[in-house]
This record gives sequence, structure tokens and C-alpha cells, in this order.
Amino acid sequence: MAVEKKRLRDYGLQSERLLWPTKGPSVFERELTNDGEIDLQDKVMLTTLEKAVRWAQGHSIWPDTFGLACCAIEMMSIVSSRYDVARFGAETFRSSPRQADLLIVSGRVAHKMAPPLRQIYDQMLEPKWVIAMGACASSAGMFNNYTVLQGVDKIVPVDIYVPGCPPRPEALLEGIVRLQERILAGVPHAYELGKVAG
Ligand code: SF4
Repeated sequence: MAVEKKRLRDYGLQSERLLWPTKGPSVFERELTNDGEIDLQDKVMLTTLEKAVRWAQGHSIWPDTFGLACCAIEMMSIVSSRYDVARFGAETFRSSPRQADLLIVSGRVAHKMAPPLRQIYDQMLEPKWVIAMGACASSAGMFNNYTVLQGVDKIVPVDIYVPGCPPRPEALLEGIVRLQERILAGVPHAYELGKVAG
């Protein structure tokens, strides 16, 4: 069902230009809004505490320093000046899971590594998020054998899957941006949804 776009006049603002029935949005209204579709709360900073917290969390994601295989090289490069993940507030990789709220699983997870990975996840404080980076972390990729976990979502709940072998740094950045969008929109965490396959 189409959602009716709200205009400034729908919020009680009155001027001849706004109330003129046959006129579309004015330049001012277009600048203030997204092509006539207004999100007045965002524009004039009327918000709730919940939204403010989500905004802060979404723009200060601290990933854990954790790499498993070739994908980790691509992950490391996102902090370089070329890709500059600092633009999205996520450049502060932490060496302690207690100071991190994002686990980027970058590479294949051997069964031997599954318990330490789960331990690191458990040591992270909530709220926390998980990105499965690459084919191996998402589904074991080409390693369809008994030594490799067939997808990290067997042991930890995954919020975002980034496809590729390896995904380019840009793809991981997009995954982080998609995660930010989920945080800002208040989408429940994967662990709240019980998204563990095994
Ligand atoms: S997805 Fe490709 S690049 Fe990433 S860990 Fe697996 S084999 Fe390596």
C-alpha cells in the first residue's frame, strides 16, 4: 500500500505558499525534506532517547580484531586511507572483545577455532553484532569437508552476510553501512531473533 507523503502543512505549518492547494513543495520545503517527503524529527532534531542511543551506537561501531584467513587481509585494509572506514565511525578495532561490539568473522572457521570464536563472542558485551565476511564464513565456501564449520551461523547469530571470495573492502564497507541502517532503524539483533542455525 502506498504511503501518503506528508507535507509541512500536514504538521500544522501555515503560510500562503504551503497552503496553496495546487502548488508542489517549495524550494525550502524540498531542501528540508526528501523530495517532499518530510522526516521532521530528523531535520529539527526532535527525537527520543531511544533514537539518540541508536544513532550513537550506529555511528561508533567498534569491531573486534579477529581474522581467520585470506578474507582478513581485505578486512584489515578497510582502515587504510584508501577505504577509510573512519568515515563511518568504525575504525577503532579493539583487541579486547570486552571493548568491541562488532565481530567480523573474516575467513573459514575450522572446527578447532569454533570454541575460541564462540568464547570471544560471549565475552563481548551487548548490544553486539556479527558480520559473516565472505563465502567461507557464511557457508564454508569451497571447503565442503569435515574440518571446516559449514557457516559461522552454526555457532553465533549473524546479522549481516557479505558475499564474495574474498569480498572487496568496499563490499565489507557496504556490509557495515547496511548494519548501521539496521541499528538506526531499530531492527532487533540477530541474537534476539535466535538466528543460530545449529
Ligand atoms: S571466502 Fe575466499 S578469501 Fe575468504 S577465507 Fe574463504 S577462500 Fe579465503
